[in-house]
Amino acid sequence: MQKGKLVVYTGYSGVGKGTIMKELLRLDDSIRLSVSCTTRSPREGEREGIEYYFVDKERFEQLIEDDGFLEYAQFCDNYYGTPEKAVDEMLEKGLNVFLEIEVQGGMQVMEKRPDCVSIFITPPSFEELEKRLRGRGTEDEATILKRLSRAKEEKEFEKYYTHKVLNDEPSRAAREIIDIIHS
Ligand code: 5GP
Repeated sequence: MQKGKLVVYTGYSGVGKGTIMKELLRLDDSIRLSVSCTTRSPREGEREGIEYYFVDKERFEQLIEDDGFLEYAQFCDNYYGTPEKAVDEMLEKGLNVFLEIEVQGGMQVMEKRPDCVSIFITPPSFEELEKRLRGRGTEDEATILKRLSRAKEEKEFEKYYTHKVLNDEPSRAAREIIDIIHS
């Protein structure tokens, strides 16, 4: 069986990656989303093993030592990482596996797996990004400011991604991404 594609899927906090991802999963049954480990606390409604595996710092550091991650990074005071074994098992089954990860992790994956597809989701503008981040109401003011300043740093990494997709409308962006991964 032909192996699936590994897709590095990145975009600033608040850009709408999650909404596009829901569309992708609804429209294309070859797509799977890798579930990451994080030391961040669950947001309301987030479930263990669905959005993330929520672990403490000691457990995360043990997993780093055991070489369990395809990539990992620190983002705004927390660790985030992709469990490698689960990803490879899905790829072997011919599934297209999306890693919804930030730029430091994205760069690690591009280096380790040069055959991956890299996609960066961009907002119509930074003003629009701020509006969306505030509008979703999941973060306090200090966290919002940290995430906006982080977005400006992440902009430097956009150029390393092969595909940039504008999130002007989530279902349109999802269709563009489906075309990219099947081309
Ligand atoms: P959030 O706290 O909003 O869920 O995620 C914060 C950032 O971490 C987002 O940009 C998200 O894509 C990224 N992220 C989530 N999981 C991983 C991961 O496993 N590795 C890396 N490097 N980034 C991740």
